[in-house]
Amino acid sequence: KDIDGIIWWCAFPLFRLVYSVIGSDSVNYEDQFFIYVGNLAAVLSDTFLLIGCLKFIGQPINWKLIGGYLILFVLICCYKYSINAELPERTKLVVVFDLIPIISSIMVLFRLPNTKYALEKYFTIFWVSMQIAVFSFWILINFEFNNRDYGIYILFSLTFIYVSHIFTTVGLIILTIARRRSQLREESRDHKLLEEELEKTLRKAQDANDEKTKFLTNMSHELRTPLNAIIGFSESLKLSYYGELNPKQREYVDNIHGGGELLLKLITDLLDLSSIEEGKMDILLEEVNLNLLIEKTLPLLREIVGAESDRLKIHNEISDSKKSCAVYIDQIRTKQILINFVSNAVKYGNPDSDVILTISDHDEHYFRVSVKDSGRGIAPEQYENIFKPFNRAGNEKSNIEGIGVGLSIARKLIHEMQGNIDFISTVGEGSEFWIDIPKSKQHQLPIS
Ligand code: ADP
Repeated sequence: KDIDGIIWWCAFPLFRLVYSVIGSDSVNYEDQFFIYVGNLAAVLSDTFLLIGCLKFIGQPINWKLIGGYLILFVLICCYKYSINAELPERTKLVVVFDLIPIISSIMVLFRLPNTKYALEKYFTIFWVSMQIAVFSFWILINFEFNNRDYGIYILFSLTFIYVSHIFTTVGLIILTIARRRSQLREESRDHKLLEEELEKTLRKAQDANDEKTKFLTNMSHELRTPLNAIIGFSESLKLSYYGELNPKQREYVDNIHGGGELLLKLITDLLDLSSIEEGKMDILLEEVNLNLLIEKTLPLLREIVGAESDRLKIHNEISDSKKSCAVYIDQIRTKQILINFVSNAVKYGNPDSDVILTISDHDEHYFRVSVKDSGRGIAPEQYENIFKPFNRAGNEKSNIEGIGVGLSIARKLIHEMQGNIDFISTVGEGSEFWIDIPKSKQHQLPIS
């Protein structure tokens, strides 16, 4: 709307210019055809002024009426040309056909709201009206432009009409600027409202998240106490502290104990996740020998792999010297990540193929520990979900146990240790997950 109005308004000074050039002394006045072209330019310029005004206030335009109006003017011009009409006759015609769009433009401009355009609106109306004042003077002297008595006044009126055109153009420009200014003001008000709305929503989401975290922490604590009793007592029964169990009883006690252990792991994971979210995760960074740490973790990892524990193959590519494999990490948390990798390799891997744990010197800042399986792999469309909490990346309906938090915890933990985590995977061939562990303190990267 805005642009439309401006384009039509641009035509106003342009056609006025054409009119002025044709009306200047340089044009041969004997050639009346040019004078009529000039007159047409004058009428066109005021018609465009009106169209611009209508567009500016968003009023529908009756193109047929405007077209008919211009055709009527051209026809009358043709007639006047054919009868060789004199200057006053010609001017009368232009004045009549100019006055209609000028008066209409003023009426349209009056409809602009004062709240937005008061100054710009009255400035433009004033200068457009000045043309009416000049035309009135011409009517008053009965278009006797060659009458010597009016000589200086006619010159003055002609000058004044040019001045009014210039200031009308300025008026149109400042109206356009005023429109843009009010649009910007509205936009910025909208933005502010949107920002406030967003802030409110964010605050609400944060509150809800805090509540959730608090709930998880409390629930996990409360659940752990009875669970420890279940695990403890079932273990006592398993170990036959209170007498031998028959095979059926043993089977049930095994189930109770296994279920209890599983529940405890899930609850511990939940607790971990909520403490990470609360920023309460304790990370104890210290200089550790990576080979020694792996060695200490191996029995646990083998236990996870289960009966055929020799499926877990170790490829250690770093030298064993204490200094050359020093890392700066939290031992317990690193173990936790490796346990998650290996248990995933067992859960989602092929039960008949190896799980390969590789330790390598990745670059000058990191050692890499990776766990590779030859399992089902991960579909590319799930890559982005792998580290999201409570997302099982396509395994939601499988009967493999899990709640989808292990890797998200692993990622947060390794980031706390200033390391990295990532994976590669091919569907049907298997996956390899790794962590890059920062080398000892002297090699620490600046915290980004
Ligand atoms: P969980 O195993 O409890 O679901 P994780 O956070 O450890 O949670 O893993 C998230 C998801 O990533 C898993 O549900 C699984 O879909 C996928 N995933 C993890 N490790 C592997 C793997 N080695 N092979 C295939 N998919 C895996």
